[in-house]
Amino acid sequence: MKILVLNCGSSSLKYQLFDMDGESVLAKGLVERIGIAGSRVKHNKGNADAVVRETDIADHTAAIKIVLDLLLDGSTGVLKSLDELSAVGHRVVHGGEKNDRSVLVSDKVIRDIEECIYLAPLHNPANLMGIRAMQTALPNVPNVAVFDTAFHQTMPPKAYLYGIPYKYYEEDKVRRYSFHGTSHAFVSARAADILGRPIESLRLITCHLGNGSSLAAIQGGRSIDSSLGMGTTPGVLMGTRCGDVDISVVLYLMDKVGNVGKVSDILHKESGLLGISGVSSDLRDVEEAAAKGNVRAELAADILCTSVKKYIASYAAVMGGVDAIVFTAGIGENSDVTRREVTKGLEYMGVKLDAAKNTGLHGKEAIISADDSPVKILVVPTNEELMIARDTERLTK
Ligand code: ADP
Repeated sequence: MKILVLNCGSSSLKYQLFDMDGESVLAKGLVERIGIAGSRVKHNKGNADAVVRETDIADHTAAIKIVLDLLLDGSTGVLKSLDELSAVGHRVVHGGEKNDRSVLVSDKVIRDIEECIYLAPLHNPANLMGIRAMQTALPNVPNVAVFDTAFHQTMPPKAYLYGIPYKYYEEDKVRRYSFHGTSHAFVSARAADILGRPIESLRLITCHLGNGSSLAAIQGGRSIDSSLGMGTTPGVLMGTRCGDVDISVVLYLMDKVGNVGKVSDILHKESGLLGISGVSSDLRDVEEAAAKGNVRAELAADILCTSVKKYIASYAAVMGGVDAIVFTAGIGENSDVTRREVTKGLEYMGVKLDAAKNTGLHGKEAIISADDSPVKILVVPTNEELMIARDTERLTK
């Protein structure tokens, strides 16, 4: 069964074509600058070098036509006919409260995704463009929507409600949703496999640390708390997003700057590692500057690690303990310094890192806790695309 996975942004489209027999990636690529000058597509067939094509790409429908042509082309392609394509899986950011799992796309599902646009105004419209473009290009191929929010729909009200008048939840569904659910689901299931224990018996804390970051408390395979919220700024410090801040700060900025859009930009695009270090939103640059003695860069990395540590301890409190801590995404998979600093000082709760096992992993799966550590520490590379492909296969087989 061959499945195409699409992740559409407002001006970009990432794709991967899977052969589900063996779960191999046949081709993948990225279309950038859709609808703006300088559009281009970068396409990889298997492990071959990327092919880059620069051409005008007016909209997502045009982008999908180019992708399908590349998949069929004699030299770049991996399909003889589009009939080989069994289904398409779409990453959809917001499913609201109605969608607690992946679904086969229907007119009703499209209306549900539209209804959630006010909760994800940048992402859901782009995700819908991808779905509609695919329906136009291949009307007989089923589409599946896999929501970033779905996995966290098992959170209880005490975790998802904010301490504001209840009517805002009733009337407008103002609540914590959190995101990266596909990643938390994937790495928690994989962690249980690696540990050789049923997920139903485990209390896991998954740390998805990338440009955007979130932690999740996962008890018995169900997300019971997660650090992003109604939006994508709360929780731990991120690349350019602020993490938890006092509402007074937001009100103060509103008063001082006097413009909602500008304050939103400050908190989403100018804060986090970038805002504190003044160096970069990329942790590699921040770590490099810190190593050279840049005090603000050191402070930014320190605040990131401390914020992750605080969430780990609070999620352990909520679950009455923790069996394993799982690190994933760009920072979680690659920064041994971050993993070391996050876990340092948590020995009192049974978290004991093995310094040697923690180094030189570069995106490989590993158990990095000491053999006698009561709490296991794991690195599990995330694979949201594969998770989307699996759900798509399950729902369309
Ligand atoms: P996104 O949220 O955009 O998918 P990623 O999961 O790719 O982001 O994570 C990007 C982050 O991972 C960046 O801050 C980057 O610096 C960090 N990162 C990647 N490799 C390393 C590394 N070797 N050491 C430290 N940080 C790294």
